[in-house]
Amino acid sequence: MDEGTLRHFRELLESRMRGLLNGGCAPCSRLADHGAKDPMDEADMASHHSDQSLVHTINYRTQQLVQEIRSAIQRIDDGEFGTCRLCSGSIGLGRLQARPTAMLCIHCQETLENVRRRFAGARRRGAAA
Ligand SMILES: [Zn+2]
Repeated sequence: MDEGTLRHFRELLESRMRGLLNGGCAPCSRLADHGAKDPMDEADMASHHSDQSLVHTINYRTQQLVQEIRSAIQRIDDGEFGTCRLCSGSIGLGRLQARPTAMLCIHCQETLENVRRRFAGARRRGAAA
């Protein structure tokens, strides 16, 4: 991959990282404000706990995305960006444009998903027996 393309992906990844770290999340801010409301009745408490669970889920997912972006930037630094981790083939530019954190080429990704589906199906059948 040429320098210009790598620079493009680095800027894309850094921009997404900034968006995640600085932009904050409007629902999270609104939910945090909700926590200051006092005193709460039972319905408020139930709603508050449900909101807290949602905030935790969003925070967890955000941390995962930040980690995936850091890993992709590291792969640019290491000269491994755009190379499939399984077959060492090239990950297509279209796929990287849509998902710059991709670590697998589309062929390996599909193979992996097929295996996961088969295992999930076998587990469900096993649980039913
Ligand atoms: Zn591959």
